[in-house]
Amino acid sequence: MKKTYKPMLAKPTPKPFSKEGWIYEIKWDGFRAIAYVKENLKLLSRNQTQIQEKFPELQELTILTQNVVLDGEIVIIKNKKPDFQVLLERNQATKPLEISIQTKKSPASYMIFDILEKNQKNLTNLTLIERKKILRQTVKEGNHVFITDFIEKKGEEYYKIVIEKEFEGIIAKKKNSIYQPGTRSNNWLKIKKTKTVDCIIFGYTKGTGFREETFGALILGLYGLKNQPIFIGKVGSGFSDQDLMKLSKKLKDLKTRKPAFKTNLKDVYWVKPKIVIEVSYQTLTKEGKLRMPIFQTIKTQKIPKECTTQQRTNPNLDPYYSKRDFSKTNEPKNNKKIEKDSIFVVQEHHSKRLHYDLRLEREGVLKSWAVPKGIPLQKNLKRLAVEVEDHPLDYAKFEGTIPKGEYGAGTVKIWDKGNFETKNWENDVIEFLPKGQKMDGKYILVRLKKGNQKNWLLFKGRE
Ligand code: MN
Repeated sequence: MKKTYKPMLAKPTPKPFSKEGWIYEIKWDGFRAIAYVKENLKLLSRNQTQIQEKFPELQELTILTQNVVLDGEIVIIKNKKPDFQVLLERNQATKPLEISIQTKKSPASYMIFDILEKNQKNLTNLTLIERKKILRQTVKEGNHVFITDFIEKKGEEYYKIVIEKEFEGIIAKKKNSIYQPGTRSNNWLKIKKTKTVDCIIFGYTKGTGFREETFGALILGLYGLKNQPIFIGKVGSGFSDQDLMKLSKKLKDLKTRKPAFKTNLKDVYWVKPKIVIEVSYQTLTKEGKLRMPIFQTIKTQKIPKECTTQQRTNPNLDPYYSKRDFSKTNEPKNNKKIEKDSIFVVQEHHSKRLHYDLRLEREGVLKSWAVPKGIPLQKNLKRLAVEVEDHPLDYAKFEGTIPKGEYGAGTVKIWDKGNFETKNWENDVIEFLPKGQKMDGKYILVRLKKGNQKNWLLFKGRE
């Protein structure tokens, strides 16, 4: 075992598939590591650093097998799924005592999915399925060592189950493929969860090349608050040949002369809004259009009228979502309107530094400020209020603990809440009349011109 191996890598692919000759396994969210097991254990990370000292519990490997080179992922399982954040924290520990405390608190597991060498014999030229068999025969499972299960052929079904359990995604591997060290290969494909939206096809563009007979892209829309169709982008990828045929046949029967909305697209063929499809996307643009949309499936059960902009999150909330991992924090995800009147809330937030978060409903989100010294209850007090990212409406009801390591970690308690009336809302001045238990009367927010544009002053005014 003089030789070291670089791990074989998987190519990202947009959606799951079910194919003869492929197997599917869970995509573990952890540290990739190749284990060289002799009397001693050596664990090499993706960049060939030795990390065995950081995970003393994985010494168990030397009891469970001998004289092998294994490929797997180091994970820390919390609440039945890998917690990458905890793993990162554990990785911070460097002193032996620290490491041993962390080991007890958050033990790691090594999820093995491949074997590269056995008794000095290189196995990388065997097929994956042969290697999997040898792996089972060669390695016993222990308290920290597990062999990753896989299933054959049914990739789409498996993906659904895995995503429901809130894992990151799946890896598809070709059964008869060899192990190609250090290569990102088409024989290993990773499929990660993305956001999806059900939308309506309002038209299509002409195809070129082999798509000439079908279509180029589909024009997508959703119904807005007043049931008016709203353009949300076009999708031109993710279609199988079958999808292309099936959709273009349906679309040709639905042609209409009447455009559903204005777009700057040329040569659009409009269709009656009858077909609903599911589309995945990365994020929304500022204008609320889909970024990197990929066709997933036709939704025959879904009624077009039900595809409204409500199912999309408010693009103003993108910064809110990007800062939070909802598998770790139970802060609100939804943005449903609670009451008819505008709501305000002040939350006492015991994070690194105690502060009070003032939130005012405006344009479908909660405009938010952090007030370090608290809300002034007397007229002569002026307090600094730092503008922070918009929060979803459901946040007005939130009380609880944001876990350690997460954005804003600490406890949140509602300090005051109620409705408010807006007297004046300008770019730099907001005057409002909250009707809360503590906040009552007229309040004024004024943006400070100097320095950070996010700094405001909050004070009580004359009614
Ligand atoms: Mn806060």
